[in-house]
Amino acid sequence: MEYNFPVTRTTNPKPRPEDETKLGFARYFTDHMFCMDWDEGIGWHDGRVVPHAPLLIEPASCVLHYAQMMFEGMKAYRTADGEIQIFRPDMNIKRMARTNERMCIPELPGEILLAGIKAVIKEDIDWVPTAPGTALYIRPFIFGDEVSFSVLPAKHYRFLIILSPTGSYYAANDGGLHCTRIYVQDKYIRAAKGGTGYAKVGGNYGGGMRASQDAMKYDCKDVLWLDAAEHKYVEEIGTSNAFFRINDEVITAPLDSGTILPGITRDSVIQLLRRWGVKISERKLSIDEITKASEDGTLQEIFASGTAAVISPIGTLNYNGKDYLVADGKVGPVAQKLYDNLYGMQTGKIEDYMGWVYKLGLKA
Ligand SMILES: *Cc1c(COP(=O)(O)O)cnc(C)c1O
Repeated sequence: MEYNFPVTRTTNPKPRPEDETKLGFARYFTDHMFCMDWDEGIGWHDGRVVPHAPLLIEPASCVLHYAQMMFEGMKAYRTADGEIQIFRPDMNIKRMARTNERMCIPELPGEILLAGIKAVIKEDIDWVPTAPGTALYIRPFIFGDEVSFSVLPAKHYRFLIILSPTGSYYAANDGGLHCTRIYVQDKYIRAAKGGTGYAKVGGNYGGGMRASQDAMKYDCKDVLWLDAAEHKYVEEIGTSNAFFRINDEVITAPLDSGTILPGITRDSVIQLLRRWGVKISERKLSIDEITKASEDGTLQEIFASGTAAVISPIGTLNYNGKDYLVADGKVGPVAQKLYDNLYGMQTGKIEDYMGWVYKLGLKA
């Protein structure tokens, strides 16, 4: 189906960020956004591109009270020949369907997501940055805004796509990889069996902020979450999936508990490691196994994976008041190779040998 969304251009374009090496993460937003509405009996309707601006929202809208919402996170890249491309959008579409199902949010056809992304990036195409480590972050989200305090799925929803030119998530300005310190959180939990851990929803984050505040007290950038039942097995690092390389085996938490967000970067890492003949296991891994490996010298690498940071190596874990060094605390070879290949494919610097890149058919 062809969509031809009406466009209202801004009459007041914003100044572009001056220095592409200092974009930060989601500090700047582009001139336009995509909006669409859902009503009972009608479905999704009135897709449109409008100037990026504050929304009018009734204070009694259900999302402000009961958090019925979802989001996705993607990136658009500009290749050397000006082609605009995104990464594995079929996976975002599938995940969005699972999140919506969990949250009782009406299904949004994948072709609408893609058409909306294309329509809004078309208007803001000169906002796609090109400096090393940069990309145009795409944030699609849906929320219920029925005026109601009954704890029932809303009868009206809004779908928006906003865009932000971004640098590296972990504040490295040169586009290169840097190791971070991570705090092992054994008091608060992120997600429990039967909860919403596998869904990309704001509520998972609201409940996690207390733990991130703790992490900062220990000079750590983020939290390594342990499982909710025993506080023993590693799950995720902040807003990213976590990988541990011990004795030449790369280990990540399995998805079957329903508490892990199935990252598209996670899936890509697993596929690349398999292709390269690196031993990769999706299995439970205890924090004790990791601290022991740090002490006996078999802990080779830890890294986080996600759209925002792509690959983010960890140099130190802080657990129970003690620092555990990951090998020599420097960027490991597997993390570096994964980053180079993923970001290389995403930006068109290396051949897309996995068939993961999706060209939007827009040229800057
Ligand atoms: C989005 C997200 C990830 C990473 O998913 P990607 O698809 O790789 O960006 C990991 N963990 C959590 C909690 C997330 O919200």
